[in-house]
Amino acid sequence: MPDYRVIPSIEQLRQRARVQALEAVHGRRATVDALRSEADAVRVLMQAGETLSEAQAETRIVAAAADRLRQQFSGSLRAVINATGVVVHTNLGRAPLGPGALERVVSVARGYANLEYDLARGVRGSRHGHAEALLTTLTSAEAALVANNNAAAMLLALAALAHGREVVISRGELVEIGGGFRIPDVMAQSGATLREVGTTNRTRLSDYTAAIHGRTAMVLRVHRSNFRIEGFTEQPSLAALAATAHERDLPLVEDLGSGNLVADLAHEPAVAASIAAGADLVCFSGDKMLGGPQAGIVVGRTALVERLRRHPLMRALRVDKLTLAALEGTLLEYVAGRHDDRVPVMRMIRMPASHIASRAQALRERLVKNGWSAEIIAGVSTVGGGSAPGVELPTMLLAVAHDGLGPEALEAQFRALDPPIIARIETDRVVLDLRTVFEDQDEQLARLLQSLENRQHGDHEGHEEPEG
Ligand SMILES: *Cc1c(COP(=O)(O)O)cnc(C)c1O
Repeated sequence: MPDYRVIPSIEQLRQRARVQALEAVHGRRATVDALRSEADAVRVLMQAGETLSEAQAETRIVAAAADRLRQQFSGSLRAVINATGVVVHTNLGRAPLGPGALERVVSVARGYANLEYDLARGVRGSRHGHAEALLTTLTSAEAALVANNNAAAMLLALAALAHGREVVISRGELVEIGGGFRIPDVMAQSGATLREVGTTNRTRLSDYTAAIHGRTAMVLRVHRSNFRIEGFTEQPSLAALAATAHERDLPLVEDLGSGNLVADLAHEPAVAASIAAGADLVCFSGDKMLGGPQAGIVVGRTALVERLRRHPLMRALRVDKLTLAALEGTLLEYVAGRHDDRVPVMRMIRMPASHIASRAQALRERLVKNGWSAEIIAGVSTVGGGSAPGVELPTMLLAVAHDGLGPEALEAQFRALDPPIIARIETDRVVLDLRTVFEDQDEQLARLLQSLENRQHGDHEGHEEPEG
């Protein structure tokens, strides 16, 4: 029969300075609950045959309770270090915001703002005016509106312009955009009916014209943002499709997916080019290539944008002040021509492999000094997030190994750090791509990796202490 008297009472534990510190942070009730659970766990251990001294039992209960409380109250949404080299990583929150966007979010969020207030006239204003002037300047469109995301923008466009009528679309563009969301399903919710034309690989102008009749409400073009069709393919140009739609008094709506605002990015069509080619509405995401917050942006003709704005769904799909602040902050960087430096997505896409290599080299030297094996190898980063399919950005990867751990085990240890480091496994090695690691995180990354050594060779019991 184990001697359970070594397990201290909760009241005894509450006299300890360490426990009092926990109570000060987490409150009495949660702390006592955690201590009880961990005392029970120790009792179970002893039942199973483990013998503990009083001091050991106490240390174990308090340390485990502290861990439990930290996990319980740290929130589940956390910052991570993205060392995957996927710039717009959908699983890792897509676009990180730049300093200009963050400053505006903070200044708007910490107090009141003129979200729906007309400062010049002192009367109620509209939230829809924010960001519009910046968007029209950057795309040369007549008008703009912002919805919750691009799927919402599409839903709104279809509901407002094609409810109960038909939308002509090429079979080659009925895409699934990830997470199981398919364009045809979104369209069905809008009350519009799809009229698919052509084949997967070839659709001609005549296929569109043959399908247009009295119940047709619009022609839709969906950018193939996350895949490519190669080989025997055909697709009319956007300009030709727009001209055809206009001859029949129909609007041409384009779902561009990623919203590229600059002309010189080879990988992605620019929004302004679609407007110039005659698209009447163009929808795109705020948090893909544009590098801003989650949002769905619609730019195009004033009369059409107005119809979307007045639709009842607009109220359900509108964005809040934080999104508008982050979006304006991001767009202002483009207007000022500072985006390559101050919009992280753009900065990362443009970062030359030579610069990534020199950062990787510095990290390599530190790790090798500490007994890691680390090697710099050529590789590729990707834009990701349903942008620029097939486009590979040349990069320099740091392939690392440590302590005879297999790649899966090492990669899992990286994920257990605080903050977690998300790495890739490539040809059986863990690789770090510093393209997507912020330069001011290089030091933290190095220290986090070094903390793994201490853990392995130290007397730690596998609890991760925060570092850096
Ligand atoms: C990403 C994408 C969407 C969805 O955009 P969200 O902002 O994620 O809602 C829609 N259409 C295309 C073509 C896309 O690439």
